[in-house]
Amino acid sequence: MTHTLADVAPAHEVGEETSTRSVDAARGPERLSCPCCGNSRTVHFYSAPAIPVHSCILLDTPEAARALPLRDLELSYCQTCGFIFNRVFDTKVMHYSERFEESQHFSETFSGFARKLAAEIAETCDIAGKKVVEIGCGKGEFLIELCQLGHATGVGIDPGYRPDKGRGSAEVDVRFIVDFFSDTYSNELDADVILCRHTLEHIDEPRNLIRHIRRTIADKPNVWVVFETPDAKRVIQEGAFWDIYYEHCSYFSAGTHARLFRAAGLEVTGLSLQYAGQYIIQYAQAVGAASTPALELEDDLEAMDDLVSAFPGRVARLQSYWKDRLRDAKSAGRQVVLWGGGSKGVSFLTTLGVTDEVKAVVDVNPFKQGKFMPGTGHPVISPLQMASHAPDLVIVMNPIYLEEISTQVNALGLQAEVVALDVP
Ligand SMILES: [Zn+2]
Repeated sequence: MTHTLADVAPAHEVGEETSTRSVDAARGPERLSCPCCGNSRTVHFYSAPAIPVHSCILLDTPEAARALPLRDLELSYCQTCGFIFNRVFDTKVMHYSERFEESQHFSETFSGFARKLAAEIAETCDIAGKKVVEIGCGKGEFLIELCQLGHATGVGIDPGYRPDKGRGSAEVDVRFIVDFFSDTYSNELDADVILCRHTLEHIDEPRNLIRHIRRTIADKPNVWVVFETPDAKRVIQEGAFWDIYYEHCSYFSAGTHARLFRAAGLEVTGLSLQYAGQYIIQYAQAVGAASTPALELEDDLEAMDDLVSAFPGRVARLQSYWKDRLRDAKSAGRQVVLWGGGSKGVSFLTTLGVTDEVKAVVDVNPFKQGKFMPGTGHPVISPLQMASHAPDLVIVMNPIYLEEISTQVNALGLQAEVVALDVP
């Protein structure tokens, strides 16, 4: 059942605390049924009021960064399929364009992972001489690498694609469509591999996309559908509130992910967690009817129930730890920087309401340097610029980069303490 905005403001659940919201923060129409399976056994369990609607947008001034629209995030959990969604997500406020910078390819750790994954996909889907289409290809680095490595041709579709120099070789048969994927491009899905990485979590009606893909494949059994999506089970288990932000309106465990595809008539043939367990990698092919769960990772509903129940307490402890640590550092006159100007950094700063406790945010992506963090307006600087701040504490936004970043901090001759944000 979907309400209009007028129906639900200012309604609150029984027993739920009423909170004061900023006047410019608002909610989309409240959604009570699950957008993944349609069931209405959903429970609300986490709120992040008045957060910036975008976290990967490039902003030229601190004023522009602080003027970004704010909206509420309220996560509900579906007890039937394990899906987690922002029940008041407002699609009207989302405007993706080439002003977005989401690439992690400037990190050695990430590009090493991407290379390994490209090799895995090329082999599993036997792509030589075939056509790969990627829905939500970002800046196209991965698609170019995959097609080059696997001797395939490619089509990438993304409203944020920009043909920047240095993003990959031009010596490969890959073209790009700068737009959202829609019915207009259904003919492009006539491919041997349909690839979709880090996009499903941005879609508020994921079931529609998967059904659309399934319809397009029709009765071609050899087409591969390959998806990579952040694993929400880890986020919920770790209490990783920095992994929850407005652009992500949909959150999947491996089991939820597979259930969605199976219900749409796809056989899930491979399901794994990669990148230190942060990403779900799933391979599927079309079958005649809904398929039956058969893989180990799919059996996760009971565990998800328990983790979701424990999540609010875990988050409260982590948030209080970091608030205390930042306040103590400030009163001791210690210079603090974050490392990682992506969505995790934006969420960490805005969820905790951080201001001058943090001096700046470091990022190795040159397209982010000189810009300002959405919401709080902290400057994004290069590692070299960071050295001039002589930081005492460097907080690493993704623990997987801890070693790579520690090495860089040491190479700059800095004595700073380097910690990952999941430290407590
Ligand atoms: Zn559901």
